[in-house]
Amino acid sequence: RAAARHKGSLAVKHTTGGSCSFGKLLDSSASIKAELQRVLPAANNKNGSSCDGPRVGIYSEPGMQYVAATYAAWMAGAVAVPLAVSHPPQELDYVIRDAGISAVLTSASGHNKLKDVTHAAGAALHVVQQELFEGSDPWLTTSSSSSSSSNAEQQDWQEIAGSSTSDASSGALIVYTSGTTGRPKGALHTHGSLAAQVECLTRAWQWQPSDVMLHALPLHHVHGIINGLYCAHYSGAAISFLPKFSPAAVWQQLMEGDVSVLMAVPTMYSYLLSHYESQMSPEEQHAARAAAARLRLTVSGSAAAPVPLLQRWQALSGQRLLERYGMTETGMILSNPYEGERRPGFVGLPLPGVEVKVVQQSSSSSNGNGNGSGDAANEPAASNEDSGAEVLRQGELAVRGPMLFREYWGRPQATAEAFDGEGYFLTGDTVSLEGSPPYYRILGRSSVDIIKSGGFKISALDIEGALLHHADVAEAAVLGLPDEALGEVVAALIVPKAASKPAANEAGSDAAKTGDVLLGQLKGLARRELASYCLPRVWRLLDAPLPRNAMGKVNKKQLLKEFFPEQA
Ligand code: ATP
Ligand code: MG
Repeated sequence: RAAARHKGSLAVKHTTGGSCSFGKLLDSSASIKAELQRVLPAANNKNGSSCDGPRVGIYSEPGMQYVAATYAAWMAGAVAVPLAVSHPPQELDYVIRDAGISAVLTSASGHNKLKDVTHAAGAALHVVQQELFEGSDPWLTTSSSSSSSSNAEQQDWQEIAGSSTSDASSGALIVYTSGTTGRPKGALHTHGSLAAQVECLTRAWQWQPSDVMLHALPLHHVHGIINGLYCAHYSGAAISFLPKFSPAAVWQQLMEGDVSVLMAVPTMYSYLLSHYESQMSPEEQHAARAAAARLRLTVSGSAAAPVPLLQRWQALSGQRLLERYGMTETGMILSNPYEGERRPGFVGLPLPGVEVKVVQQSSSSSNGNGNGSGDAANEPAASNEDSGAEVLRQGELAVRGPMLFREYWGRPQATAEAFDGEGYFLTGDTVSLEGSPPYYRILGRSSVDIIKSGGFKISALDIEGALLHHADVAEAAVLGLPDEALGEVVAALIVPKAASKPAANEAGSDAAKTGDVLLGQLKGLARRELASYCLPRVWRLLDAPLPRNAMGKVNKKQLLKEFFPEQA
């Protein structure tokens, strides 16, 4: 509906060439809708609540086809389910079956990868014709009000408008969680919960029709889909799709183009900084600094942004990254302000319309969000001593509001356990409210990042943040290992920067000595910056980057299995 107000404006462009207006995008969506309706089984509501349409998978490289396929699914009254192009067939099979997908809309190149999987799972596969997006774009050359469109297309646009107002409680989108704590779960968002998120974020971050967002994020998580794509299109702003993230390509786009918004995960900013520092000539660096300084909005999220990273970006661009916090189930909840203090290491305050409370750790664990042990409820709360900040409240964050998902698809018990008696969703994340004015700080997932040692609850994220202060540390991951006396002990896994990397299994070599020196320095740094109960007892130097998923989240379960198999 919002997109239809901007028919004559640019909606999508590809950094590799090609673009389309909102008018053309919606015309194409209407054609795809008609094709989709031919392949969708007549009465299909496997597994769903009666107000939800059939599930339609969207499997396409980032670009117009992906976007038009999503809008077509909505026009057809279906629930869109974005599928990850990076996923192997068995993961795709899991999602197609779990969501009860009836049909998948894909691009020509997706067809080969999907045909066996969809066939085996009993879903139809339909290729969106590339020709729909080729040829002239009449909407870009005439004024939007005088452009003609067929009655049928007008009607389809009205149908979207109708569905987003009258059927706010019906399913619109199933997004799978990252699977950090267990098997990914499908979180069902309604047209109403999506509208609430998008209305809130576009206002809070002051989206304008003139904005152009450079989009290099995956399109199967809320960061790329909702914060990026939907917020842009709701505002009449354009998305410029980069087919695949690379720091060189992002810098090139920023330097050449009219980009005003960049959203990325911390790892991407880290790659951008390294590329700037080590690959660019002084002239290029000058141009890069000017390009970064021009951006209206640069957002970081999905994982904690280390403070040194925020400082390096600020030194480069003169701007502070806007760090925010959210989840698949909730959309964005906490955000540093657009105007006002963006505090490094903090995620700000609740966005408008979001109600939050901090509660004792929940004891539910079956949905992967609870910390699974009620025994920690009354233990003293530990905080990083060197922050010097007064801890006002600490515990599990719970959230309520119109932006929340409706249910975990096909998992009524997990849904029931995820909410408390007052309708608050239990995030499973431990937070603390600190400083003046008080801002929220994320201490980590109660189940994997909060280490319970000797009666203290220790934040792995705090320790990782401290270790990253060392100039030779590229990455750090902190885990809890079972311990008879203390419950758990802290283990630190360090990826040194290339120069200080030890060569594996070469005791006595120079590299191994460099490794010993680094470890010695890190132990000293930890003693200076951390409380004694937070000190790592076990240290490992790694010679490969940490295992991360598409959103830059570290897979701590894999680390545990790989480096401490006896404990996993
Ligand atoms: P699963 O629920 O399947 O175990 P997941 O929780 O990683 O996986 P997502 O919904 O993609 O799946 O991620 C949400 C989580 O990401 C939050 O619960 C939080 O732990 C983390 N997160 C998001 N933004 C931030 C941030 N700015 N700082 C720290 N952590 C963040
Ligand atoms: Mg989660």
